[in-house]
Amino acid sequence: MICPCGNALQYENCCGPYHLKIKNAPTAEALMRSRYSAFVVVDADYLFATTHASKRKGSSKDAYMKSAKNTKWLKLEIVSAGFDTVEFKAFYVNSKFQTEVLHEKSNFKLEDGKWYYVDGVFY
Ligand SMILES: [Zn+2]
Repeated sequence: MICPCGNALQYENCCGPYHLKIKNAPTAEALMRSRYSAFVVVDADYLFATTHASKRKGSSKDAYMKSAKNTKWLKLEIVSAGFDTVEFKAFYVNSKFQTEVLHEKSNFKLEDGKWYYVDGVFY
């Protein structure tokens, strides 16, 4: 399948290796994309593992699992990406079958060669 993250690549050549922990996402943008596709393929382990340790208290694998299962994600648009920030729009269908947009600027942190999601501001 084409990777859900919006790169025109096969999943096995894009976010798949990150989800399988064969490779680490090399940039904040790559991590962001791989987290979006983890929501699509419902990989709660990956979402939890790539959440920064300081923020794990406020999240759980269960919550990620529920969120991922209950949301129909349509597509991801990267608005702009810096070294450790990514602004994006993620389109999804809500419970009333209306399309909504999650517009967020996320902060990431590089630790021991691995990128982690820290937090974000919503627009
Ligand atoms: Zn991808």
